[in-house]
Amino acid sequence: MVFSHDVELALQAATVLANSALEPDTLTTVADLSQVFVDFDYSGRHDADAAELEAVRGLRSELRELLTASREEAVGLVNTMLAEERAVPRLMRHDRFDWHLHAVADDDPLPKRIRVETAMAMVDVIRADELSRLGTCADDECDGVVLDLSRNRSRRFCSTTCGNRNAVAAYRARQSQ
Ligand SMILES: [Zn+2]
Ligand SMILES: [Zn+2]
Repeated sequence: MVFSHDVELALQAATVLANSALEPDTLTTVADLSQVFVDFDYSGRHDADAAELEAVRGLRSELRELLTASREEAVGLVNTMLAEERAVPRLMRHDRFDWHLHAVADDDPLPKRIRVETAMAMVDVIRADELSRLGTCADDECDGVVLDLSRNRSRRFCSTTCGNRNAVAAYRARQSQ
């Protein structure tokens, strides 16, 4: 594990959300959002309505900007996000998670939670000077955000679809030589 479990989950969630805005959009229904909520072990308030969905959809460009920012740019974005949301960190222990930080109240809306938890996770990334764990997809046609949490930093593609497409292209290129 590169970062603590909750930090990695928050980064993975933010990456999935940012990439959901790529064509074809994969965050178009309340059910899509509920799936993200479950997949990434979010806790607290989840309205599961159209207003919440719209608000989360509206966060995606900011998440992308943060995840692909330089270290200096990321500092500015994180400080702004934490200040705007008036984040107040406190240690929590719940479900199967040992002590970790929450910076929003349980009844705060999900979009605020996503914004704050992404910013808090980026605090760890910035402090550890690990921005190189984040980048964009090695596929020429794809703008997907890549989060590389692998030990040997081997991840280059945003998805298995992009990875497979490039593996096939590389194979064909070798065959035709
Ligand atoms: Zn928690
Ligand atoms: Zn890609």
